[in-house]
Amino acid sequence: MPGGNVVIPTERGGWWHEYVCPTHGVELSHDELLCGEFPAAGAACRHGCRIHTSAVRSAWTVLAHQACAREIRRLATVRPKVATALLRRYDELYHRLAADPHEGSQPWMLRGRLFHQALTEAIWAVSIGQAARVLGDPAPRLTRALAEAARAARDTLVEQGRFTSNYTAWLNAAGAVCTGDEEWLTGEHGVHQHIRAAVGDDGWEWEGSTYYHGFVLRAYLLALGDSTPPPDVAERLQRMARAFDAVTTSGGLVAALHDGPYARPELDREHAELRALLPPRPARTEKVTVFRDVGYAVLRGAGIHAIVDFGPHGGSHGHRDKLALYLYGATTPWQPDPGQVPYGHREWREHYASTAAHPTFSVDGGEQAECTGRLEVADASGVTAVCDAAYPGVTARRRVALDGDVLLDELTVAADRPRRIALHLRPDVRLTVSAGQTRWAGAERLHGWHECACPSAALVARPGPGPADDPQRVRTHVDWVVPDATEVTFRSIYRVED
Ligand SMILES: [Zn+2]
Ligand SMILES: [Zn+2]
Repeated sequence: MPGGNVVIPTERGGWWHEYVCPTHGVELSHDELLCGEFPAAGAACRHGCRIHTSAVRSAWTVLAHQACAREIRRLATVRPKVATALLRRYDELYHRLAADPHEGSQPWMLRGRLFHQALTEAIWAVSIGQAARVLGDPAPRLTRALAEAARAARDTLVEQGRFTSNYTAWLNAAGAVCTGDEEWLTGEHGVHQHIRAAVGDDGWEWEGSTYYHGFVLRAYLLALGDSTPPPDVAERLQRMARAFDAVTTSGGLVAALHDGPYARPELDREHAELRALLPPRPARTEKVTVFRDVGYAVLRGAGIHAIVDFGPHGGSHGHRDKLALYLYGATTPWQPDPGQVPYGHREWREHYASTAAHPTFSVDGGEQAECTGRLEVADASGVTAVCDAAYPGVTARRRVALDGDVLLDELTVAADRPRRIALHLRPDVRLTVSAGQTRWAGAERLHGWHECACPSAALVARPGPGPADDPQRVRTHVDWVVPDATEVTFRSIYRVED
């Protein structure tokens, strides 16, 4: 792309999470983000709709400003004059907007000037700051103003007691990249302190979302640049990288635990940027890895990459998925975490945070409470985790272990009175079920054997929505149900087919 024809939109950006089809729940098309004009026919949905509401228009404007900033960053090295002219255009726009009252943000938002959200503005400011640095800062008024805006937003978060927010990571990155000032790294609320406060000893960002974990790690690495962090911070960054590796299969699938997209091109770009910033590390080989703070156990062996979720709910990015068992092959999402749709779609957002959407257990068809399980056993072959807070009067215990060429899964649920108890199977591949066996299709194929002593137990299949990248994709959902039990044990064995 030559780059001489980038047109910066003259309008403010809104909230990108509104860039979703209200009918189909899919993210809308990212075409033509550098031309400065919202598509005349409306933003395209892959299911045929065209959407041109004001919310979608201003969500598009967010994506367009972000794409323009990244393009300016690219042009800074190959066409510096063009990049400089574009930066100065942003300088004019940003200063013009200072006099213009900002309307349209939702009340909960921490506001920006060019965007509804200060977080969005900080992400954009990092690209702008990187370009400015390459060019010797040809728009110092702009970079200074962006750093000031980042500081003001960070002060607000600190006042609200929300220092550990993932926003802070990006506000610090914006300040650090736009100014090159050490204080953004070493200060009381700088990057080093944020890493100490927002990341657990097990290396996970506290919300336990793969997406937000990678999101803050990327911000940290961009902010730190070539600087040498103190040893404890460097160690924590290494643990963050290892946590990200642990939920990435050998074939590169990244488990979308808790809130975050299941799959989108933009996510691939972000992960590629993250991997480029991370120093190479040897591949991990241990069979069982337990993350005790966030409450994930990862089992790798027999061609299966399994994750058991037993930890804290995860704040506003948590899902009601306690004791879920996620199953991946190297390149096959047999039973993945389904991820989340853009937040602008309330209906589908509720679904993807729900118990019904996850390969976990349910009682009387109800939602699990937002709760925390506990690890009972972790040994060389697997883990046992317990949860007694998902439903009143119900205790669930799940043992998942590797044994030779198979994965064993045993879930026992005990209730205070006869109740409908179900174990969910939630594939993102073609699943066939018959005579107590399941066959999971894909580049790697999985075979399951399922056994329950209760005579009334049944594997009940019904069509359901696939993961969150396209809620219209129909997959076979199976509820392994006992309609009226006080205690039931579901035993499964999984083996990868040759
Ligand atoms: Zn649509
Ligand atoms: Zn989930």
